Amino acid sequence: MEKEKKKLSLASQIFIALVIAIFVGLLMQNHAEIATDYIKPFGTIFLNLIKFIVVPIVLLSIMSGIVSMKDIRKVGSIGAKTVVYYLCTTAFAIVIGLIGGNLFKGFFPVLSTSELSYEAAEATPFMDVIVNIFPSNFIAPMSSASMLQVIVMALLFGFSIILVGEKAHSVAEDVDALNLVCMKCMEMILKLSPIGVFCLLCPVVAANGAAVIGSLAMVLLVAYLCYIIHMVVVYSLCVKTVGGMSPLKFFKEQMPAMIFAFSSASSVGTLPINLKGVQKMGASKEVASFVLPLGATINMDGTAIYQGVCAIFIAACYGITLTPAQMITIVLTATLASIGTAGVPGAGMVMLAMVLTSVGLPVEGIALVAGVDRIFDMGRTVVNITGDASCAIIVSHLEEKKEAKKA
Ligand code: ASP
Repeated sequence: MEKEKKKLSLASQIFIALVIAIFVGLLMQNHAEIATDYIKPFGTIFLNLIKFIVVPIVLLSIMSGIVSMKDIRKVGSIGAKTVVYYLCTTAFAIVIGLIGGNLFKGFFPVLSTSELSYEAAEATPFMDVIVNIFPSNFIAPMSSASMLQVIVMALLFGFSIILVGEKAHSVAEDVDALNLVCMKCMEMILKLSPIGVFCLLCPVVAANGAAVIGSLAMVLLVAYLCYIIHMVVVYSLCVKTVGGMSPLKFFKEQMPAMIFAFSSASSVGTLPINLKGVQKMGASKEVASFVLPLGATINMDGTAIYQGVCAIFIAACYGITLTPAQMITIVLTATLASIGTAGVPGAGMVMLAMVLTSVGLPVEGIALVAGVDRIFDMGRTVVNITGDASCAIIVSHLEEKKEAKKA
């Protein structure tokens, strides 16, 4: 009898950990340093383990995805669909962010800007961004976790294995086997996610209690409203109409990854859970292992929304009203900025500097939102990874339909 008792699923365990973390975090508000000194390090250990496994997973899963497609044209067709979907949804996201920001602008607090200072990181020139996609060394991309370079490596090796053909058969099998080993390793690490989620979130809640959120509550609320609208409207519609899946099922299965993204604020860190989740929903392994690592690197709809809302808020604090032409510039730069944003905590705020500069807004304005960036970040990461998952479902469904037609 005892043995038949069903174990709590990982998703439920993660959810319970989230609730406990919020509760304990609120209780520890007056002792935030204890949470930061003694609880956060365990969250960091967990995040380190995830980071450790993520590079081999991206490299091997993309390679094994490509090899199993056996056809370079098929990879091209999946790649094209993926990139088009990512670009369109990101542009949509930033429009939603701008509309939300403009609609609620009247409710935003007007904070003093006279004593602001923010040291913006030096922006990388556009051509350098392109050049930096291509690795010049076999080891460096992996040791520095430069995901775009790792993706290029995986594409080159994957294509080469296909082109060599029969003679590389054993290499293809080894890649597949190594991929399975990494997935197993990831599964073991993921068993720790409830503890990881608790240890990551509790110090954030303790440190960013109600008092800190204070005057920015309205801006945060608008950003979260836009995050939710984007997910519920855009992703639901896409998943339903193009992906042939009920949005309810999609969000239910997506929940563990969403909770994890919320606590870790890292798309790349959430990649292993996302990979598992979409395959459970029925996305094919070959598509998921190509679309998701790419998405965790270049698709950031939540970040785009955040940049739209914050641009409007910062402009309002400086008493500037953005013109329609400036808003169009924001749509373009925020789409590019979100592609360049790394899937790690806080990266979106750095890229906000590029968006502000593009329309002549003072970069120091970032200091107005920097204090609560983590709270913006948790929400935008949820949107980022959910966008990736919706793409995997859609592309997988389209490929299935194509195969069925051929047959
Ligand atoms: N933390 C986000 C992510 O990992 C990126 C950002 O800061 O916007 O997706």
